[in-house]
Amino acid sequence: MKILGAFGSKTKNSQLSAYLLDEKTVIDAGNLIQSLGRDFLKLDNILISHAHFDHIVDLPTAIDTYYSELRKSVNIFATQEVIDILKENIFNNKVWPDFSAIPLMNSSEKTIVFHALEYFKEYTIGNFRFKPYPNFHTFGSCGYIINDIMVFTSDTFLCYHTWDFLNNNKNLKQLVIEVSFPSAYNRLAVLSKHLTPLLLEDELKKLKREDVKIYINHMKYEYMDAIINELKEIGLYDKVTILDDNSEIEIG
Ligand SMILES: [Zn+2]
Ligand SMILES: [Zn+2]
Repeated sequence: MKILGAFGSKTKNSQLSAYLLDEKTVIDAGNLIQSLGRDFLKLDNILISHAHFDHIVDLPTAIDTYYSELRKSVNIFATQEVIDILKENIFNNKVWPDFSAIPLMNSSEKTIVFHALEYFKEYTIGNFRFKPYPNFHTFGSCGYIINDIMVFTSDTFLCYHTWDFLNNNKNLKQLVIEVSFPSAYNRLAVLSKHLTPLLLEDELKKLKREDVKIYINHMKYEYMDAIINELKEIGLYDKVTILDDNSEIEIG
């Protein structure tokens, strides 16, 4: 997994959420254009965890930018709730053209094809297996279990599923989880359904295993130093790996 964007805010030095699994399949579309360039054309499958702007911003623009070169439909996978949000608010012929109704240049196939995912069902998409599950962040949002090895929470909040999966399935060995705000911003974190270092510390008490490799992502870049200092203070820093733009994780 190559991290095209590891952060929850876009700055000169930080890119938004996008997780490339191989050249055909990516989770989230926060940074596809600057990172992939024309390799965007190789993508078959874009899984969207939820419709927040930081996870979708490059989806409408990349499809437009590369439209004339696209030779096959781009498949968009998300829950039906998230698909409805994208159709109503982005691909609505007001904010952006409805590319699910526009055929490719030299074909009758549509430019994008939406595929609805159901929670707790396992799907083979490209070369990977995904099981979406509710991560308690927004209406219709999901995390993914990937290849029965990694729990990828995407934006999440207090979520017993994460810990139930890890405690009950020893095949799961990797956890990618978010910390967005320092604990001083607890109210904002709770209102926006995100984790802080202290909320993560509390959540981790539910994990009954020592052998799970834990990765942290989605820090709001402006709070990165504060979050890292706090993780050090509470003794979590040495137990986790902080993801950065261009980090890579071997799934397995
Ligand atoms: Zn986000
Ligand atoms: Zn979000």
